[in-house]
Amino acid sequence: MTTLTVEANNLTRIYGGREAVSDVSFTLSKGEVLGFLGPNGAGKSTTMKMLTGNLAPSKGSVKICGVDMIENPKEAKALIGYLPETPPLYREFTVDEFLAIAARLHGVSGKHIKTAVQRAKERCGLTEMSKRLIENLSKGYQQRVGIAQAIIHNPMVVILDEPTVGLDPIQIRDIRALIKELGGEHSVILSTHILPEVEMVCDHVQIIDKGKLVFNGSIDILKQQRHGNKLLIGLAKPPANDELLKVPGVEAVEALPNGLLRVRYTAGKAPAEALVQAAVSKGWGLHQINPDQTSLEDVFVQLTYQDAAA
Ligand code: ADP
Repeated sequence: MTTLTVEANNLTRIYGGREAVSDVSFTLSKGEVLGFLGPNGAGKSTTMKMLTGNLAPSKGSVKICGVDMIENPKEAKALIGYLPETPPLYREFTVDEFLAIAARLHGVSGKHIKTAVQRAKERCGLTEMSKRLIENLSKGYQQRVGIAQAIIHNPMVVILDEPTVGLDPIQIRDIRALIKELGGEHSVILSTHILPEVEMVCDHVQIIDKGKLVFNGSIDILKQQRHGNKLLIGLAKPPANDELLKVPGVEAVEALPNGLLRVRYTAGKAPAEALVQAAVSKGWGLHQINPDQTSLEDVFVQLTYQDAAA
């Protein structure tokens, strides 16, 4: 049995002659949480809609657990749980009533509905809210109900479009923990424009910009780009740059306006220890040494900036 739960092949969507999504291809495996990241208007929702069979691609194809979305939409859609950007909630129902309807709509058989509702409530921390009207719940709890309806039929793939927008910090923390947990049993695609969210929740990240994938890799690779083989060092009596360049691994030294030195080094040759030894033995007055991290925001801007001015 294949462990690939999602295969997107050359997905393209054209609106009025303009490509909103261009040639997007990727795969997702069982148990993986994929962060789908991009600025507003990048094409995230359009891609999510094509993945969930709510929008036909102009070109390309989607397979869910090997089932083609265009050839067998009913079967493919049954393998997906989807929380759109605006949760499809019937606010005048109680949590139990609404989840029972959602179970029926997702094809759960009559005798299994009660168990499915119970299980979804437990997983989403909603058991105490069973008899409450959805309209009286806080936005965080409404979002949980949205996630509960997406997992009610225990789908292989859960797709969540901007699930933490508009929530307060505590609700955001809870929803992120829930998403991480879902990754254990399901494959999850989380669309977001919030970079730290991806870092906290996902194993794998894709960055989309102007309809094109500009990054596709593990969160570790993204973090490595962030670390970028640089150190910041503070020396009370700095030597000439040539002295620092003699330290094995050091490639370049740059004096910063704040008095610190930025030292670039060869990948895999972190020279921190050698720099400390040299500083002590030669009396350079070392008072600070730490990795120089590019913020994730900067990495994101670098990846999505290329033709921002165009
Ligand atoms: P995101 O979810 O990343 O904010 P969207 O997928 O909603 O981006 O939109 C991508 C691009 O496609 C945007 O330029 C948007 O204006 C355009 N677009 C989205 N939906 C439509 C539509 N129904 N008709 C025309 N253009 C659309």
